Amino acid sequence: MEKTNGRIEPSAGRENLVTLRGIQKYYPVSGVAGKRGLVKAVDGIDLDIRRGETLGLVGESGCGKSTLGRAILRLEEPTAGEIRYDGRDILALSRKELRPLRQRMQIIFQDPYSSLNPRMTVGRIIAEALVIHGVGSAADRLERVREIMKVVGLRPEAINRYPHEFSGGQRQRIGIGRALALQPELIICDEPVSALDVSIQAQVINLLMDLQEQFHLTYLFVSHDLSVVRHISDRVAVMYLGRLVELQPKADLYEHPLHPYTQALLAAAPVPDVNTVREKKGLAGDPPSPLSPPEGCHFHPRCPHVMDRCRKEVPAFREHLPGRWVRCFLYEDGGTVGQ
Ligand code: ADP
Ligand code: MG
Repeated sequence: MEKTNGRIEPSAGRENLVTLRGIQKYYPVSGVAGKRGLVKAVDGIDLDIRRGETLGLVGESGCGKSTLGRAILRLEEPTAGEIRYDGRDILALSRKELRPLRQRMQIIFQDPYSSLNPRMTVGRIIAEALVIHGVGSAADRLERVREIMKVVGLRPEAINRYPHEFSGGQRQRIGIGRALALQPELIICDEPVSALDVSIQAQVINLLMDLQEQFHLTYLFVSHDLSVVRHISDRVAVMYLGRLVELQPKADLYEHPLHPYTQALLAAAPVPDVNTVREKKGLAGDPPSPLSPPEGCHFHPRCPHVMDRCRKEVPAFREHLPGRWVRCFLYEDGGTVGQ
């Protein structure tokens, strides 16, 4: 097992369920004065998701988190790169060959309002994937729906109700139930609590953690907020304008963030006490547009440690210490900024 700072890395030694290499997703767009441009939403991601872990994926809105999550499920065809799922090259599979694998990967969306069909009852929403994949008889499916409703904490009599009759947190339980129907291994949780009240967020995160243990699930848990992924994650990856800038076991990332961007995100995190004035430091301005990202290190215009070479060269994503990855010139000579 790998060790980091004398600690055992939480998911070290587990096999990779998903392996991403060089993933790119570029969107052609018509820009100013009809000039065509390319949005480099995802621009060269190498990342492994280990079986049974929760990998947090964090970054500001627009940095490419959803695009990456959707690419893993092939809801989005990557422009380039390789995706292996349980050892199989899924980009090489036909739609038909992909079908059985699709059952093993599901997604939960941010917005439990728009992601549930308002004209379908809870029972039908959860059963839909079973019907599409031809699983069991109608009676079997009803039995399965009842079972799922129980595990996600929905009352049995809710089966004939419609999404609008539920609160946000309850609706997200319906979304989670739908994702569980086919007994998946991997769930991409795309900001599943971002639309919920803070008091409800913890309940949904705890439910996801219970389900992970019960059903041996693997999660990619996406959020724009580092504080949201803290409790649930084993490792956390930080993304900036289409690229990873940092990947660390959770404890290391929160105690010793390596990249100046991660350091700034943590410094800007909300203080739990409402009477304390929130101090925002280090992270000036909005992220630049992925349509015309800065040369060199994308973060250099906002970086307090910017050096000349950061404006011209792209730093490599390197393993600074075992299991602790960073994309920053400050660490090229074994440096330890901010530690
Ligand atoms: P995040 O989930 O981190 O907020 P997204 O993956 O949704 O980011 O988007 C990344 C970038 O790609 C954004 O600049 C977004 O505007 C752009 N984008 C996403 N989908 C499309 C699309 N279908 N066409 C053009 N641009 C897109
Ligand atoms: Mg998103």
